[in-house]
Amino acid sequence: MLRPSSIAESVHERIYDRIMSLQIPPGARIPIDGMARELNVSQTPVREALARLEREGLVRKAHLIGYSASAQLTHKEFDDLYKFRLMVEPESARQACLRMTEEAMARIEAAAADMEKGEQPVDRNSRYSRFARADAHLHDEILKAADNEIVRQALNDQHIHLHIFRLMFHSRVTQEALEEHERLLAALRARDADAAFEAMRDHIERSRDRLAAAFE
Ligand SMILES: [Zn+2]
Repeated sequence: MLRPSSIAESVHERIYDRIMSLQIPPGARIPIDGMARELNVSQTPVREALARLEREGLVRKAHLIGYSASAQLTHKEFDDLYKFRLMVEPESARQACLRMTEEAMARIEAAAADMEKGEQPVDRNSRYSRFARADAHLHDEILKAADNEIVRQALNDQHIHLHIFRLMFHSRVTQEALEEHERLLAALRARDADAAFEAMRDHIERSRDRLAAAFE
């Protein structure tokens, strides 16, 4: 028998996977009773999972309608998200250079190494999923090093990598960002605040230009 907490965990994961792989398409309704029957569980863990997915920005709850998968990012939302990243992440990379402890730099190095050396996933989609998570982790370690929890929380609240992953699900993705990360890391290692600012700005601009292809 699974414990209730592991049932909730597994229900969350199964619905999450269906949303991320677009088996539940953006905007589609997710009825609690139907999902509970399909997953052969009671409604309680489904409710819990949907509440958590709502906090993660992957589902929306509407009065009298219930839950549905969040709509795909619009081009405008995508642009706004990248403008926001450009406002805060280059400056955070600069701040990281000024405030960073040795431990924080070690965590950044570990996150970057994990991106390059992670085990080979079985297919394109899980490869990008792993890449997106590892990239989010690396960027978060830099925000931690910058030591401004308000900025860090504001970015985390956007769940950028989840939205980008869904957006890119049907398109080709590359890992050319690794070179950009290398430049960023070199600046952080040297505690060169201006170079870190420039490298982060350059990386986010290029990332935006690569992903904008999803709207063409
Ligand atoms: Zn990155």
